[in-house]
Amino acid sequence: MSLAIKQNSGARWWKGIVFRTLSAIALTTLLLGGASNLIIRQLVTDRVQAQAVQGLGELIDSVESTASVACFANDEQLAMEVAQGLLRNSEVQGIVIRSNDKELARIERKERSTSDIAPMFRSLGSPFKKDETIGQIELHAHWDAIYQRAAENGRYATILLTAQLMLVIVGAAGMVFLVVVRPIKAISDRLHRLDATSGKSLRVPEGHEQTELGRLVDDINELTGRLVDTLDQERDLRRRQEIDQRKYQDLFAHTPSGIFVADGDGRLESFNPAFIELTWLPAMAEDSPRLLDHAGWENPAAPIELLRSSLLTHASCSGDFLLRGRRGDERWLHLAITPLGDGSAQGTVTDITLRKREELSARRLAITDSLTGLNNREGLHQAFDQLGQCFALIVINLDGFKQINDAMGFPAGDQILLNTATRIRLLSQPDDFLARIGGDEFVQVMANAQDRSQATARAEALLTELALPYPLEAGPILLGATLGIAFYPNDGADLHQLLRSAELALNGARQARGAATHGYRFFDPSLQTEVEHRRRLEDDLRQAVAAHELRLAFQPIVDIHANKLVGAEALLRWQHAERGFVSPEIFIPLAEKIGLIGEIGRFVLGEACKQVAQWRRNGMDVYVSVNVSARQIPDELPAIAVQTMLRRHKLPPQAIAIEITEGVLMSDIAVAQRWIEELRSAGLRIYLDDFGTGYSSLSYLKRFPMDTVKIDKSFIRDMGADTSDRALVEAIVTMASSLGLNVVAEGVEELAQLALLREMGCTYGQGYLFSRPVAAADFVATATRIDAELALPMPSPSPSVPPAPTFR
Ligand code: C2E
Ligand code: MG
Ligand code: MG
Repeated sequence: MSLAIKQNSGARWWKGIVFRTLSAIALTTLLLGGASNLIIRQLVTDRVQAQAVQGLGELIDSVESTASVACFANDEQLAMEVAQGLLRNSEVQGIVIRSNDKELARIERKERSTSDIAPMFRSLGSPFKKDETIGQIELHAHWDAIYQRAAENGRYATILLTAQLMLVIVGAAGMVFLVVVRPIKAISDRLHRLDATSGKSLRVPEGHEQTELGRLVDDINELTGRLVDTLDQERDLRRRQEIDQRKYQDLFAHTPSGIFVADGDGRLESFNPAFIELTWLPAMAEDSPRLLDHAGWENPAAPIELLRSSLLTHASCSGDFLLRGRRGDERWLHLAITPLGDGSAQGTVTDITLRKREELSARRLAITDSLTGLNNREGLHQAFDQLGQCFALIVINLDGFKQINDAMGFPAGDQILLNTATRIRLLSQPDDFLARIGGDEFVQVMANAQDRSQATARAEALLTELALPYPLEAGPILLGATLGIAFYPNDGADLHQLLRSAELALNGARQARGAATHGYRFFDPSLQTEVEHRRRLEDDLRQAVAAHELRLAFQPIVDIHANKLVGAEALLRWQHAERGFVSPEIFIPLAEKIGLIGEIGRFVLGEACKQVAQWRRNGMDVYVSVNVSARQIPDELPAIAVQTMLRRHKLPPQAIAIEITEGVLMSDIAVAQRWIEELRSAGLRIYLDDFGTGYSSLSYLKRFPMDTVKIDKSFIRDMGADTSDRALVEAIVTMASSLGLNVVAEGVEELAQLALLREMGCTYGQGYLFSRPVAAADFVATATRIDAELALPMPSPSPSVPPAPTFR
């Protein structure tokens, strides 16, 4: 590109700077010259006239004395000579000389002056007396002649001035041309030929380095320099823009993301190939408009809505949308829309199917129980809203799972849980919802179950199924389950409440276990009251312990072969001021739960020791057995503490026996084993209480060295009627004696039972037949009575209720 300025070949000379400058000079000079000419001419004329008047005055002066002589002498001749002499002056028109008496001479030119101006008078004094006027000279000037001379002088001056002006004009024009116009023209011509882009610059005309022209050229050079720089920059910019554009076009065409521009109605103004590929936009005729909702969206209105809201709010919006192909294939797209400000918007589309799938599987994982594949608590939570208008929620808890898990290890526990899940699954309908919400706690939601009959049928089926043996590597094992059932929405408006209700029902069912229960329970508001009742009971128990309101009762244990009393079991009694008698079967578990059992246990042992020490001092050779619950072992009742207590009451170790249940053995085997061994090596005897009710396995007896087993009263009670119970009792007695263990039969109430037990070879008995638990104060009397009655021949003692005063 060239920055040469185009020659203006058609320029008119009269528009050029030379002509204009010269005309301006000429005009100015002429105007000024004309004016000054007029003024000078006037001045010259005035001066000529003034000189003329002065000249005439001097003329008169030169003849004044001669004329005064003529007047004095009244000499007309002389006067005439004077007058003629004056008239020789061409500027005198006429002369009159008069004395005081008469006119001495009058002379006048023939040609008359056209101007009539007043004549000049000169008084003439006497030659002797200057002050005496004797005559007068009257001179008429020849004004035409004067005027003519003045005009001639004026004309001359004008000619001179004009000639001067002409010279000035020519000189000034020449100078202007040389000094200003020519260099300007030269600059202009060079400027026309200049190619600034090739780095050339304008040369300052010689001699003008310091003048305005020099500065002008410098300015022009600077300006063109700047102009060229700007042009260069612009050229660069354009080149870069072109490159960028090419790059963007490339990007647009080859990016894996879909890009489009659409108007508010979703009409696509432009889009790249990836957009078609990603959105499954169907092929269409070139000229038919293509719409954003033509893509395979599952819900085509949703992306359009996003587009509109972006345009409406003038803000970028984004969302994830599902595409569904013709063959049912799915694709997740992330759509981000940015308004362009002209009513249209630009959008990008990216494939997020993989991420969505990962999210989905992560979400699924978060709501799934990894062991059973059922939902977990979170899954139940999330599904809660979709479970329907009304349904039954059954909470299923395996009985004794914890013990099995502890005793047999996690693999066995997992096996049981998996098996349970399968069984529950088998018993569910397609609409039901299953979850495992805790270790061994399952939930089955029965969709649309509205009344108890349906739920009852299901609960019974579940209990039957779960009562079946679990096949484990070590051999089949029986567990059973307890269920709690609550209805939505009656028993709980939200999951939290509903689960709580079901758990309450479950607890209710569990507590009633062994009594008239079916292994399940429906929630009812009384359970809630029970919970509150229990909470109040807890408070009361705390107070009772603090106020030493608990007492011990003693129930005799009898040697049914030697027919004598050998000991007693210490049993706790709580007589509440308002509630009356509270069973230890109620408050002992409560004390375990609220952490009071340690304190209570120490009290029981202390009291028992005190009593037995007193009796032994009084000559009664008896022992007292003390119940110890699992929670007390080992820290709440260490073996050393028991020994200390015995020592304090100066008791031999045989004076105290410790009764534990199988629960103790199941919690932490190693700990229990050590505790038992310590006590036994200290000489104490360990009784296994309630034998037969739990998972009584003979292996316990082998693993844990015991002294005595106490057969649970439920077997003794039913022994008469139920032959299987009788066989069981007999088996226990036989087995125990073969292991070198003693047997105490609990709950002996009838003579027939006593007879049977004797027959079987059972050594000891305990029960209402001999005595109810009695207060310590009544024990000696009771013991005496029992010994006396046992000494009588059969069929005594009497089957009637013993007369001894009893607590209960
Ligand atoms: P347990 O150790 O099996 O005590 C025997 C229970 O059978 C006592 O109930 C006793 O009154 C009752 N019983 C005795 N003979 C007969 C009978 O002929 N027929 C019937 N139907 N029942 C009879 P109690 O006193 O209500 O105690 C219940 C349970 O409370 C005890 O069962 C024991 O497990 C627990 N317990 C009582 N006192 C204590 C204690 O000091 N510490 C601990 N840890 N538990 C205790
Ligand atoms: Mg007991
Ligand atoms: Mg018992």
